[in-house]
Amino acid sequence: MAVPQNKVTKSRRNMRRAHDSLVPGNPAECPNCGELKRPHHVCGACGHYNDREIVAAADEVDIDEDAA
Ligand SMILES: [Zn+2]
Repeated sequence: MAVPQNKVTKSRRNMRRAHDSLVPGNPAECPNCGELKRPHHVCGACGHYNDREIVAAADEVDIDEDAA
């Protein structure tokens, strides 16, 4: 098994990890509903992409609860 030749100090380890933080996403405004959405993804609020409805919005789906 390979063994490290020198101990990596807490300082050096933490200096290396100083660049490891995650950066926040780049949310864009949905042109249809104005909600913030991920770029190049279907809007999670209204289901639109490229000014077209791709996914039916939840309140438009007709669910018959008596049938279940
Ligand atoms: Zn939207």
